[in-house]
Amino acid sequence: MDFELSEEQVAFRKVIQEFVRDHIRPVAREWEHAGTYPTPIVAKMKEMGLFGITVPEEFGGLGLDTVSMAIVFEEISRGWMGIAGIIGSHSLSTRMIARVGTDEQRTRWLPRMATGEVRTGIALTEPDAGSDLQGIKTRAVRDGDSYVVRGTKTWITNARHAGVLPVLVKTDPNAEPAHRGMSVLLVEMDAPGVTVSKDLGKLGYKGTESSEVVLDDVRVPAANLLGGVEGQGFRHVASGLETGRINIAARAVGIGQEALEQALAYAKERKAFGQPIADFQAIQLKLADIATEVQAARLLTWWAAARTDAGRRTDMEAGMAKLFASEVAIRASLESMRIHGGYGYSTELDIERLYRDAPLMAIGEGTNDIQRLVIARGLLREGPLT
Ligand SMILES: Cc1cc2nc3c(=O)[nH]c(=O)nc-3n(C[C@H](O)[C@H](O)[C@H](O)COP(=O)(O)OP(=O)(O)OC[C@H]3O[C@@H](n4cnc5c(N)ncnc54)[C@H](O)[C@@H]3O)c2cc1C
Repeated sequence: MDFELSEEQVAFRKVIQEFVRDHIRPVAREWEHAGTYPTPIVAKMKEMGLFGITVPEEFGGLGLDTVSMAIVFEEISRGWMGIAGIIGSHSLSTRMIARVGTDEQRTRWLPRMATGEVRTGIALTEPDAGSDLQGIKTRAVRDGDSYVVRGTKTWITNARHAGVLPVLVKTDPNAEPAHRGMSVLLVEMDAPGVTVSKDLGKLGYKGTESSEVVLDDVRVPAANLLGGVEGQGFRHVASGLETGRINIAARAVGIGQEALEQALAYAKERKAFGQPIADFQAIQLKLADIATEVQAARLLTWWAAARTDAGRRTDMEAGMAKLFASEVAIRASLESMRIHGGYGYSTELDIERLYRDAPLMAIGEGTNDIQRLVIARGLLREGPLT
């Protein structure tokens, strides 16, 4: 058993840390508060190939292993979690297209997605269905060489910048069980009838919009049916969400790590009753708890990632990592805020942003109760991990 990153992974992490130091940290607080879209950071991420982290090298991507992918999301989230969102759902979908897309879909989209020329995301959630994806209403009816798609998707991150968006639809609304009638269509965003109708206001996760997308009798070529076979969409999406959940777990670790580092630095510098607050045992206990939990979350995340790289099914592992790491991020940001006293509540420091960004980790890519159900299903199927 080896808990250490490889030399390449350490070197890669340093590159990402330098990018965060030079391009994200200097602007994060101001742009996040102002609601500025981080166009220069997006340009830099394109230059670095970060839109291609899950695109195989043969299509011009970096083809990263899943542990390295986790490193990218942890490090970027330490600087500003919203930026991780820009390549988050993009990477989920490029990985999904690489794994299950037809040859034509892969050669058509992946090279341009790897460079960020064509951007993407994932459109699953609807106003009346999030956890219960089999309850979606968006309908695709075959008509000659195309599908006619009608429905509304909501909370779709990156939709405003997407060139093409994988959309979960029902191709057979009467299928039993319902998931057998579900498919993913690659919807080109400039097709007539596609409208990004509004951006949703949100507590955190600023920097990238999460939007409502209305599909009003949009004609989608049948060639854009992901994988070329109807009825596979739910499976494709579920498999995509496995690595999506590792991505969210890694972002949560990043939030927790940043909360810890800022708390440590502040505790050494802030004085009360004539001594640094780090000398008070009550503060030390908090620091010890945050550090222990963040490290446990990181190891769980890397373990789930390493199992994915070993080619195993990792729904239970990814669920555990996301469940634990997101709760750690919430606790760590709150405890760090307590250590910072009044300054922790101030918009002049970053703790309040960590505290606002953390709860999304417990909601996105499946709420934590849904993760518990996934874990329980794994336990009942395979027995406990030993
Ligand atoms: C900022 C942001 C960005 C997002 N980006 C995207 C995106 O890019 N693409 C996309 O498709 N979606 C996106 N989402 C949507 C997100 O994935 C959903 O919000 C999430 O899956 C939960 O679905 P819901 O909001 O419909 O909640 P609901 O499903 O209505 O759940 C409400 C509550 O009921 C609980 N619950 C539901 N079913 C069960 C059950 N069987 N057992 C126990 N408890 C249950 C849930 O845990 C939750 O506590 C985003 C959401 C946010 C907030």
